[in-house]
Formats: sequence, C-alpha cells, structure tokens
Amino acid sequence: MADLTLDHVSKFFDDGGSKVVAVDDASVTIEDGEFLVLVGPSGCGKSTTLRMIAGLETVSEGQIRLGDERMDNRPPRDRDIAMVFQSYALYPHMSVRGNMRFGLEESTDMADADIDAVVEETADMLGIADLLDRKPGELSGGQQQRVALGRAIVRDPEVFLMDEPLSNLDAKLRSQMRTELQRLQEELGVTTVYVTHDQTEAMTMGDRIAILNDGELQQVATPLEAYHRPANRFVAGFIGEPSMNFFEMEVHGDTLANDTFTYDLSPRSKEAVEGTSRVTLGIRPEDVELVSDDELDHTYETSVDVVEPMGNENAVYLEFGTERRFVATVGGMRRVEAGQSAVARLPEEAIHLFDAATGEALQ
Ligand code: ATP
Repeated sequence: MADLTLDHVSKFFDDGGSKVVAVDDASVTIEDGEFLVLVGPSGCGKSTTLRMIAGLETVSEGQIRLGDERMDNRPPRDRDIAMVFQSYALYPHMSVRGNMRFGLEESTDMADADIDAVVEETADMLGIADLLDRKPGELSGGQQQRVALGRAIVRDPEVFLMDEPLSNLDAKLRSQMRTELQRLQEELGVTTVYVTHDQTEAMTMGDRIAILNDGELQQVATPLEAYHRPANRFVAGFIGEPSMNFFEMEVHGDTLANDTFTYDLSPRSKEAVEGTSRVTLGIRPEDVELVSDDELDHTYETSVDVVEPMGNENAVYLEFGTERRFVATVGGMRRVEAGQSAVARLPEEAIHLFDAATGEALQ
C-alpha cells in the first residue's frame, strides 16, 4: 500500500490544430487508504485526470507515482488499479459470477477454487450472493452497479478509480449506495479517487475533496475546510446549495461600499483588505439572518421577492436596492411571504472576502 501522487501533471489535446489544456499542472498526494473526491463542473478535466491515473490517457507533462514508483509510463494492466464506470461496463453475455471472475482470471494465476471463494465472499459483502447466476440484463441498475463494484473489489487493487459510478441510479438508491460505498471503502482501506460533478456527493463522501475548474486544481481540503475556508471565489460559489451570495464592493478604509449599501469592517477584516481596491463580499444563504431589530450592526432593509420551499427550510430571495438580489435560508416553520419587508443581517463573523481581481480569499 502507498500514497498516490500527481506531480505537476498536465494533459494537452490537439483539437484540429488548437491546443486544449484539459488538465493544467495538477499536484496532489492521495494518502494510502484515503477517499479523495475529484469534483468540478462539466468539462473541467475530472475524467481526463482519472484516465491518466488509469493509463487510458497519456500524461503530457509531469509524473504520476504510487509510493516512490513512477507509474505514468506503465501500461494500464501493470498499474494495480481497478476502475468503476458510470456505465457499469459489464459483459452482457456473462453471468454475474463470470463478470466478477473475469478481472481475476485476467490478472492473476489464482486457482479456480480460490477465485470462486473470493467472488462468493465479495458477493456476500455486497449483498448480491443470490444473483451470481443471473445475467446483467436481469438486474436492476443498483444491482448492476454492485456487480461492477464487485468486479473491482475482487482484484484487491492498490487503487480504486470511480467515474461518477452512481449517476445512473435514482436519488434514493444513490444516497443509499453513497453510504454503502463509503463503508466498503473504509473497510477495505483501498486508496480511492472518486469523480463527480455533484457537490453534495463530494461533501458527504470524501475524506478530502479536490475542486477542479478549467483544468486547474482550485483547492484540496476536507469538505468542512472547503465550506468554511474556501481558497477562492470559485470554490466558495461551487460548494454549498443555494450558492454563496456575492457583492462587488470598493474598499474605502474600513468601509466597503457599492451603489446600494456600505459595510463596516472590524480591524481584523480591515487588515485583510488592506492594499486591495475592489473586493467581493461573500455570505452564505444560511448565514444571512432575518431579524426584527434594525438597530443591530450590519442590518439592511430588504423586501421579500420569492419564497422557495426546500423541504425543512425555505430559500427566501430578498431584493435590496437597485436590482440586487440575494438569498437567505430560514427554517421552514418561519412565516415569510413574498412582498413583505424584512431586515436582513449579514453578520461579520460569517462573511468571506475575496480579491475582486484574482478571486483569491483575503482572510
Ligand atoms: P464531464 O463532467 O462533462 O464528464 P470532465 O470534467 O470529466 O467533464 P473531461 O472529460 O476530462 O472533463 O474534459 C476536459 C476537457 O478536455 C474538455 O474541454 C474536453 O472537451 C477536453 N477533451 C477531453 N477529451 C478530449 C479529446 N480526446 N480531444 C480533445 N479534447 C478533449
């Protein structure tokens, strides 16, 4: 067992003469046994990164290592990696048992009886032991995904790579399988890189998450760190639902101002913005308070535009000055109606400040 390292890895594609930078100088070490979720919007380079680790794509620059051993120049079959795809990629003419055996028959010289034992033990662990003689076409989506997982597990690899493995399942099964996958990964202790575009999945599953945008790694952190201390505006806006509110502000000493409102800064925040002329003020919807006392600091008169139920909470869209809108989430029991006025408080301990030019966090 060993750490998996991406060391200044880039991938360039040639798209009819023009160069596409799919992955741009990515460096990260995934620790032995760690569950790392690679997350980002469509086209940001997640699959390409995973495919380079698997050996399905060459590396244009940089190195990939397992422990001290370089692996980017090895063929896929010599990498001791098992990959699970969104499409399951099962062989339709083979039984579940056949599909699970297949990977092992290819990669080891284990005796038949031993292979059978491993397959049965894994099927037991995944709750599919009674399905071993069926064909993939006779299984539900969730069962097929378990078989695909089983096929990866029997090989007992150093690394699991998973590319949106749950995205074909319905919402309920997806959340059930998330928990199950996490439990399995913990039990097996196999280093795992899991790709998803779904930030909820990333936040709930990863030991750490690596947030990718436009081929560039934005931040590698625990889900809580990324939520509370986003490295830049992109991460701040990507993590969290509804997204963080942003206001573009000019810095005037210890006050931030735009054409709608001003925001007074404490000495600590003032220090953070010193030397910057324009900043982005961010606040998460769940940190906006609707209060009755407009004498409190950092309170603003707003009117309620739309109230959107979100289960046990409501998203309250507030209008504020000329064409500024932001959102607050409040408990579902709280009566808030469209058209009413509301005093919103943006408490200073909850705000995030970013350099408006670079997007980098200032605190
Ligand atoms: P999605 O979530 O939509 O699958 P992704 O984050 O996995 O997206 P990639 O598939 O890794 O993104 O693609 C990253 C970038 O590289 C995209 O701009 C894509 O168009 C480009 N790309 C991927 N494969 C090729 C290729 N074979 N030739 C040219 N460009 C490619």
